[in-house]
Amino acid sequence: MGYIEGHDRNQPVLFPESIDDYITEDNSVRVIDEYVEQLDLVKLGFTKAVCAGTGRPSYNPKDLLKLYLYGYLNRIRSSRRLEHEAIRNIEVIWLLKKLRPDFKTIADFRKDNKPALKGVFRDFNKLCDEWSLFGKELVAIDGSKFRACNSKRNNYNASKLQKHIKHIDKKIEDYMRELDAGDTAEASDRKPDIKEIKKRLQELRHRKEKYQNYQKDLEKRGKNEISTTDPDARLMCNNNNNVDVSYNVQTTVDAKHNLIAGFKISNKPNDLGELDNMALRAKKLFGGKDFEALADKGYYKAQDLKKCVENGITPYVTKQVYSNGTGDKDFYTERFKYNKERNLYVCPGNQELYYYKKRTSKGKVIGYDYRNFNVCNECNFKSRCTKSEKGRSIYRHIDQDFLDTIDLQTELNKDKYRLRQMIVEHPFGTIKRGWGAYYFLTKRKISVNIPSRKNTLTGGVEQLNRRS
Ligand code: SF4
Repeated sequence: MGYIEGHDRNQPVLFPESIDDYITEDNSVRVIDEYVEQLDLVKLGFTKAVCAGTGRPSYNPKDLLKLYLYGYLNRIRSSRRLEHEAIRNIEVIWLLKKLRPDFKTIADFRKDNKPALKGVFRDFNKLCDEWSLFGKELVAIDGSKFRACNSKRNNYNASKLQKHIKHIDKKIEDYMRELDAGDTAEASDRKPDIKEIKKRLQELRHRKEKYQNYQKDLEKRGKNEISTTDPDARLMCNNNNNVDVSYNVQTTVDAKHNLIAGFKISNKPNDLGELDNMALRAKKLFGGKDFEALADKGYYKAQDLKKCVENGITPYVTKQVYSNGTGDKDFYTERFKYNKERNLYVCPGNQELYYYKKRTSKGKVIGYDYRNFNVCNECNFKSRCTKSEKGRSIYRHIDQDFLDTIDLQTELNKDKYRLRQMIVEHPFGTIKRGWGAYYFLTKRKISVNIPSRKNTLTGGVEQLNRRS
């Protein structure tokens, strides 16, 4: 019995097959082709969207856009690899009708069309909206760290710079000592060569100067750190507790089909202060419709929650639980009960803590402090309750009554809140795990915005394909 044999490569055929025969009716390249064909690239602001009357004809931006979208759908992000695919991949050959743009053309297309690509993202979101793919009732908001084009070695803070300079100073001292010793030694005994030492000294002095310039730059700009390859990226802790120079990608994901309704690139390592911003962007996309928003405790900020409520967005956000310093959960702040009529707190030791003073920040009242040090000093639980010698103080936020209503609302909708991770982690899972796109290929905030937008866009296309 022989093996299953393929066709003879040299067999002539009477009626040659067309490239279209190789592309099945449900192939996702057909979706990309249809989608890009109906776009108005002139309106979207693509360069070369109108043919030049003279000179060498350029590639149609529609073809290059198709290639880019195909690349993101198929984990091919590098322009050199896309160039290669246009030669060997039958889907790309079909999509580009045998065109073979080189990597420079592909890279330039992306570089020259940043705002236009942003427009494509918006257009696709509108299309999803027209197809009723956004439920507009429930969204989840969260951020995820994506590695920037900047190694940890090229990220400095004041203490790291100080350490480097100290190390260089020591090395310089060592070399100077060797030079002195070399001066007195016989030429044949000199080890290493004087010329070599002088060369190394020069290098060290250059490096020291570079670090000193970074120090000056940090002081001048009042920043904590400097990233030398991508100045906008920052050192951040990721989900696996590793530290990397990254960007924080914020997304709002609609619960109906786990489609990203909006995103933002931030270089802040935490999510605090992003809730209202992200929710209001989604509200704009949803045509002003009221909806519910789920977010974790990293977004728990009274001001943002208030803004959401004022704009018809119902937030379900878990509260921040503050430790008491001793780690004894029986004495966490949430165990202190507030008595509104009497304006005092009753502690777990059943003692009353009274209003003490207002707490301010930049001249503005942000809350109130409650305490009763006399009873604390007599209390048997003091070592479990606080590490402070004087006794325990409780801070009440100026908007605590409002925060209490949010806490109650979240508690009553626990089942809904539990959906948060499933909704918001879905696109991140597709982008990071599925496509391996956990890092950016471009530098600066303005540029990293674009690939993510395409990630979002293609994420939507992929999900549409799976469904169709
Ligand atoms: S230390 Fe003070 S606040 Fe804490 S339980 Fe005792 S009395 Fe209450």
